[in-house]
Amino acid sequence: MSLIWNRTHAWDDSDWRSVAACRDTEPELFFPVGTTGMATDQIESAKRVCDHCDAQKACLEFALATNQESGVWGGTTEDERRKLRKQWLAARRRAASQG
Ligand code: SF4
Repeated sequence: MSLIWNRTHAWDDSDWRSVAACRDTEPELFFPVGTTGMATDQIESAKRVCDHCDAQKACLEFALATNQESGVWGGTTEDERRKLRKQWLAARRRAASQG
């Protein structure tokens, strides 16, 4: 998955949120309780919505930049984002050190 690592953002809700595929879904779908049992089905259903979302990259980048710790964002779970966030922070540090 490629991210827009070096772009500087001022996130605009009217920008990517206006095309979010989850706008008309139940918010609970994206915030399952736990990671096992019924939550697994919920996570997979949420990810299927994300797979067809035009805002997926921006949503994921927003979640990484603002450290969203729970829920499905940009097609990722909190565990997946924890790993991605380390890469994202490292890339930002590299970009900053290069001026
Ligand atoms: S990527 Fe998923 S969580 Fe993010 S806006 Fe799209 S559907 Fe919603």
